[in-house]
Amino acid sequence: MAEPDGPAAGAGRRLATAPRVITVPKELRQLTAGWTGSGQLVGLVPTMGSLHAGHMSLVAAAQRECDKVVVSIFVNPLQFAKGEDYLSYPRRLDADLALLAEQGVDACYCPQVETVYPEGFATRVLVDAGSELWESAMRPGHFSGVATVVSKLFAAAGPGRAYFGEKDAQQAAVVSRLAKDLDLGVEVSVCPTVRDPDGLALSSRNQLLSAAGYRAARCLSRALIEAARRFAAGVVSGAELSAAAAQVIDSEPGVRFDYAGVVDPADFRPVIEANGETRVLVAAGVEGVHLIDTSLLASPPRASR
Ligand code: AMP
Repeated sequence: MAEPDGPAAGAGRRLATAPRVITVPKELRQLTAGWTGSGQLVGLVPTMGSLHAGHMSLVAAAQRECDKVVVSIFVNPLQFAKGEDYLSYPRRLDADLALLAEQGVDACYCPQVETVYPEGFATRVLVDAGSELWESAMRPGHFSGVATVVSKLFAAAGPGRAYFGEKDAQQAAVVSRLAKDLDLGVEVSVCPTVRDPDGLALSSRNQLLSAAGYRAARCLSRALIEAARRFAAGVVSGAELSAAAAQVIDSEPGVRFDYAGVVDPADFRPVIEANGETRVLVAAGVEGVHLIDTSLLASPPRASR
């Protein structure tokens, strides 16, 4: 396999070479230690694969800001609760590697489950913030699973920066807290949500939807837009704004409303009175697929049609 190492692999450069594929943490540590040892900034983009333009926007941000970029692809069983879609979660490593090659990514870390969680694995990382709210309440153990795998990915890749999506705002907050609390020396960067032309946030799980389900899923971004519209019209009551978002989702046939929250971005607690910093969170089940979306009240998604 071609080696993308060397001074030509500068920030933002696209190389027509495949990323170095790594499956064990020791090898990744050796590679990135060489880079950091020569003063290069390593950016990490953790993903569960089935890459789409949302993921690639994180990769592009990492390439702009870092000297070397590692993308991890790992469907993490620890962050799926019992009965969730761990087994049916879309996986397509070959297509993902082709995309990463096209984008000139330096390395892809795609370990096996037994490598990450070998026999006897007994450690969990618990970020004790907002643990009863929204995704935490819907998915018990989810953020502990995320924090555990992200800790392991940071340990293996030794990044100076790591890139996460605003779409999963609660996750980004948990990871930022983790990095800070454990002095991991990783700067967590949160990138804007990439949407389809109708406003639906791109998600690997969208592939699990039928055409009708895909259309129905657009109620999530419409709910964010409706809350923002009312806010712009002068409504500041958090309860009223979240009810307006809920109503949009609830009235979509075949969609299960899960939650709508109008929250303080600092702690994700519901606000009594909204302001320009307030965030809206929505979640729904579409054809059994759990989908989430979020935006600031002051900057709702824009659908181009
Ligand atoms: P996932 O593979 O779904 O675990 O996502 C990996 C990373 O990509 C997470 O930090 C997500 O927040 C981010 N991400 C997922 N979808 C999008 C999107 N539509 N726009 C921007 N980032 C995204």
